[in-house]
Amino acid sequence: MIVAKFGGTSVGDAAAIDRAARIVSERVPRQPLVVVSALGGATNALIAIAEQAASGQVILAMRGVEALRERHLQVASDLLGDDQDATDVAAEVAATFDELAALAEALFVLGHATPRSVDAIAAKGELVSSALVVAAFRKRGVPAVYVSPMDVMITGDQFGKAEPRTDRIAERASAVIRPLLAQGSVPVVGGFVGATEQGIITTLGRGGSDFSASLLGAALGAESIEIWTDVDGMLTADPRIVPDARLIERIRFDEASELASFGAKVLHPSTIAPAVRLGIPVSILNAKDPAGHGTLIAFDAPRRPVTAIAGKEGVTVVKVRSLRMLLAHGFLARIFEIFDRHRTSVDVVATSEISVSLTIDDARHLDTLMVDLLQLGDVSVERNRGIVALVGAGLGADSDAMARALAAMHGMRIHMLSLSASGINLTMLVDADQVAPAMRQLHAAFFPPGGDS
Ligand code: ASP
Ligand code: MG
Repeated sequence: MIVAKFGGTSVGDAAAIDRAARIVSERVPRQPLVVVSALGGATNALIAIAEQAASGQVILAMRGVEALRERHLQVASDLLGDDQDATDVAAEVAATFDELAALAEALFVLGHATPRSVDAIAAKGELVSSALVVAAFRKRGVPAVYVSPMDVMITGDQFGKAEPRTDRIAERASAVIRPLLAQGSVPVVGGFVGATEQGIITTLGRGGSDFSASLLGAALGAESIEIWTDVDGMLTADPRIVPDARLIERIRFDEASELASFGAKVLHPSTIAPAVRLGIPVSILNAKDPAGHGTLIAFDAPRRPVTAIAGKEGVTVVKVRSLRMLLAHGFLARIFEIFDRHRTSVDVVATSEISVSLTIDDARHLDTLMVDLLQLGDVSVERNRGIVALVGAGLGADSDAMARALAAMHGMRIHMLSLSASGINLTMLVDADQVAPAMRQLHAAFFPPGGDS
């Protein structure tokens, strides 16, 4: 069997759901399990409703409920016309939003929202989108069957970001989903949503549908997982900065994880870890171009010296200098302890005998951090820096690639340089306004236009 997951934009309106139906109908012989997100933007709207209601803005919240109701009814009527199925689905949509209104009202009266009640509200998006998708698929000849995520996605009670109970999910998936696949049905389940052992609604955290797809794929031993989205896949660089960026056809999981730390937003690798760990390949595919190649993420894709070029601005460097560091131990521990205490994560680190330079992305706690750091030595701060990085699992072992990278940086000031011990990324700290030109120069060096990577 395979898992086909459709994200918010791939089920965002009637046309998108129609495309999804076509994609799934071609895959029926491969026994697809379909995982769907809420209609694009619906989860944001639901969370806003919860916040507004709890903070006394009940009229605004109710307007939000009605807007969502209208949107879903419109999609239902676009997809289903006015046959019997349409009437049933419209009734279900109405019931869902009546309940949502009641929940919002309750939060308003309480003047307070708990993570548990927010989950009950946020989950509505997937619960209703999956019902719509089932009806639309059936009308288009796909033998879809609704599966409640609360029957399979068993989690702990960490509301807002619940931990999946993988053993229980495997048991439930075998009991509920396997028989449907065996009889040739196409089960459709809402992503993101789960339930505790006692049946209380939970969610897996924002963007959690990819996680649902991966957990269910792992539970059922899927042959592959397809993440259908609205981009062609992962690219060799951000195309807004590097117009020549090209599709990465295969990427290793560790490389994709490195890229995620640069804000590559296609998907967060941690959400697909449960599947990739079992050797299940995960593909990112564009629902608007189903014939496209997409990007395949696998644990053991070949190690290339450079798979992608990444960059980010807004980096701050903190430099701590102290003669007490000389031949002393425990100094780094003390420095890191301070960053930890101020909940600031450190990105790149370089040390000399009497100084440590660190980069941070989030300088919000810098002032209080400085007070503590000054106890250890002289501290200086450089703002307006940026990072460019080459990411490739074979980079560390390829001296030629390394030389080419530095040659490509000719004429640019590099403030810090770091090669990870795993050899998967070469990170260079530059002035913020040099990030874009550096990315273009590096990209041209490793992915020459018209050339073969
Ligand atoms: N609908 C949820 C969200 O927007 C989950 C997802 O789309 O993956 O966070
Ligand atoms: Mg998403």
